[in-house]
Amino acid sequence: MEKRIAIAIDGPAAAGKSTVAKAVAKRLGFIYIDTGAMYRAFTWYVMHKGLDPKDEAASCSLIPEVDIDLRDDGTVLICGHDVTRAIREPQVSGNVSYIASYKEIRLALIEMQRILATRGSVVMDGRDIGSYVLPNAQVKIFQIASVETRAERRYKENVEKGIPTSLEDVIADVKKRDYIDSHRDFDPLTQAEDAVPLDTSYMTIEESVDAVLKIVKEKVGVSPIC
Ligand code: C5P
Repeated sequence: MEKRIAIAIDGPAAAGKSTVAKAVAKRLGFIYIDTGAMYRAFTWYVMHKGLDPKDEAASCSLIPEVDIDLRDDGTVLICGHDVTRAIREPQVSGNVSYIASYKEIRLALIEMQRILATRGSVVMDGRDIGSYVLPNAQVKIFQIASVETRAERRYKENVEKGIPTSLEDVIADVKKRDYIDSHRDFDPLTQAEDAVPLDTSYMTIEESVDAVLKIVKEKVGVSPIC
């Protein structure tokens, strides 16, 4: 049996991880797993149930009923609801870091993520993949970019998707999420000791993808199939 390979791509909010991770997975023929989408879907569900994401006990009470499905075509389902678009809305972005700071919720989602990683070779992006979820991942990358670059990229994406936001709001959201994500008690956003830092501030998407593929080639000797 072929050896399963795991590539972990972590970093702060809107660093372009998902875009790069998705493209890298496609080029390598690996499964792409967007763990941020899972925290976002959970947040959407809490609000859909009329609960306050800042209320830890109420949010955690939903764990037993939550079922998340990440489809290969990028569709995200939670308890049968297609939330692919809704999870990118500002209300979800503004609350997701509270949900992601609750240990019980993290443990439940991390268990799902580890199961997904047994399905084959994967590229998984998030905040804690190399440091906690998949500590034995053969390739770990910590992708960063300046706050301005990240906010501008996210703002452009929102405009393209028809999601109404202002650049100022996006900058505030990115800074707020980075702060909460890196200051939570359990499993904060952190660069794994053995992760390779990759600053994509001045790189195009293609250059970032090529940089990751080069690191993958160096670490595990795997080349793109397309
Ligand atoms: O990656 P994305 O920006 O979509 O993630 C949304 C939020 O989910 C992050 O701001 C963070 O609070 C949380 N998250 C996390 N751990 C992960 C992935 C995302 O805490 N592995």
